[in-house]
Amino acid sequence: MTGVEVRPESPGCGRFAPSPTGDLHLGNLRTALLAWSLARQSGRGFLMRMEDLDARSRPEFVSRQLADLEAVGVEWDGPVLFQSARLQHYRDVVDDLSSRGMLYECYCTRRDLAEAPSAPHSPPGAYPGTCRGLSERERSARRAALTNRGPALRLAAQAGSVAVVDAVFGPYTGTTDDLVILRGDGVFSYNFASVLDDAATGVTQVVRGDDLLPSTPRQAHLHELLGFTLPEYAHVPLVENAEGARLAKRDGAVTLSDLRGLGWSTEDVVSFIGSSLGVPGARCASDIADALGITGLRSLPTEPWVVTPPSS
Ligand code: GLU
Repeated sequence: MTGVEVRPESPGCGRFAPSPTGDLHLGNLRTALLAWSLARQSGRGFLMRMEDLDARSRPEFVSRQLADLEAVGVEWDGPVLFQSARLQHYRDVVDDLSSRGMLYECYCTRRDLAEAPSAPHSPPGAYPGTCRGLSERERSARRAALTNRGPALRLAAQAGSVAVVDAVFGPYTGTTDDLVILRGDGVFSYNFASVLDDAATGVTQVVRGDDLLPSTPRQAHLHELLGFTLPEYAHVPLVENAEGARLAKRDGAVTLSDLRGLGWSTEDVVSFIGSSLGVPGARCASDIADALGITGLRSLPTEPWVVTPPSS
C-alpha cells in the first residue's frame, strides 16, 4: 500500500481524486484549490489519487493534470495513489464481502435497468433489486445467457435512506440502493474503490464536485458496513457556461493551457478562481487558503459558478 502513514491521533487527510480522462478545467482546478485549502486550514495532510480504473484513462492526462495542479499551488504528501495499483486490495474486500453474504450477482443489462420500474419511494434510477431474490436455478439460467460480460456484483444494501451532513449543502438524505461493487465488464465501481481508498489512506475530509452529492449517502452506507469512520463532506458547485450547461472544451478557453495560450499567467487563473470564491486578489493557492475558512465554505453559493470563457 502506498500513501501516507496516518497516526491515529492525526487529523487525517484531505484529498483530490481526479479521473485522468481529460485535462482539468477551471471548475476542477477550483475544486482542487478548495480541497487543498480546507485540508491545510484544518491541519490535515493532503493526498492525490488518480481514479484511473476507467478505460478512458490516459497516462498523458495523468501528467498534464498533475502539472496543472502543481502550477496552481496544489501540493500533495507522498506518492500519487493510482487505483489501477490497488486491484488486489479491492478483490480481497470483494471476497470478504462475498463470504459474508453481502453481495449478489446482477445480470441486468443497461436496457433492463432503463426499463425497470423504480421501487416505491426510490429516486429515479435507483436499482429496484431485480436480481436480489433470484433462486439458484434462475441465477444459473441468467448467467448462462450472458454474452461478452460477466454478472455485475451488487451490495445487498441494508439501509433505506441515509443522511449525511455536507459543509456546503447542509443535511442531505438519499436512498441507498443495492449499488454496484464490480461491474459486468470486470471494473470495480467508482463508489466502491473510492470508499476503500479514502478509508485506507486516512482521508477524513472529502471535498469534490456537487455532481457526486447524490452518491454520498450510498458511499456513507458502504463506509458504515465496512466499519470505517465517515469522513467530513463538502460538495462544491460545478462550473457552467452561460447557457447552464457544464463547462466544456467547446466553450472556449477552459483549461490552464488554453488560458495561457491567450496570455493569462497562472496567477491570473488563480486570481480568477479566487474571485469566484469571494477571495479577490489571490495570487497563489495559499492566498485562497488563508482567506477562506470553513465559514467561507458555508457561505459558498450552492448555485453553479457561471463562467463565460474568453475565446481567442
Ligand atoms: N474521480 C471523480 C471525478 O473526477 C471524483 C471522485 C471523488 O472525488 O470522490 O469526478
